Amino acid sequence: MSNIKEDRWYCTECGINQGRNDIWFECDVCGDCHVHKTNTKKKDLIEEKLIDMFDRIGIEMPTNLEDITQYCFEYLIIDENYNVLSDLDNQVAFAFKLWVQQQK
Ligand SMILES: [Zn+2]
Repeated sequence: MSNIKEDRWYCTECGINQGRNDIWFECDVCGDCHVHKTNTKKKDLIEEKLIDMFDRIGIEMPTNLEDITQYCFEYLIIDENYNVLSDLDNQVAFAFKLWVQQQK
């Protein structure tokens, strides 16, 4: 009787009832929520780097920071382990340069 219950679980993020096969073994969130959470973390990281960079080169914070962050996020490939982290400053700067060039 309880077998059915055991095979179902709820994602702690979206609360959607999941089948056993959908389980994301490393945490209690479903695959979709895991991707979403990881992407949010990456975007936060990129935004932080952009803000640092604007600070460093002394320009005002652009009002479309979100767009720039999104562009850099789509351009940069950051793996699950943030392996490019050490070089992320340069990579974000490069992605930003491409974004600027696209605005012409
Ligand atoms: Zn979920």
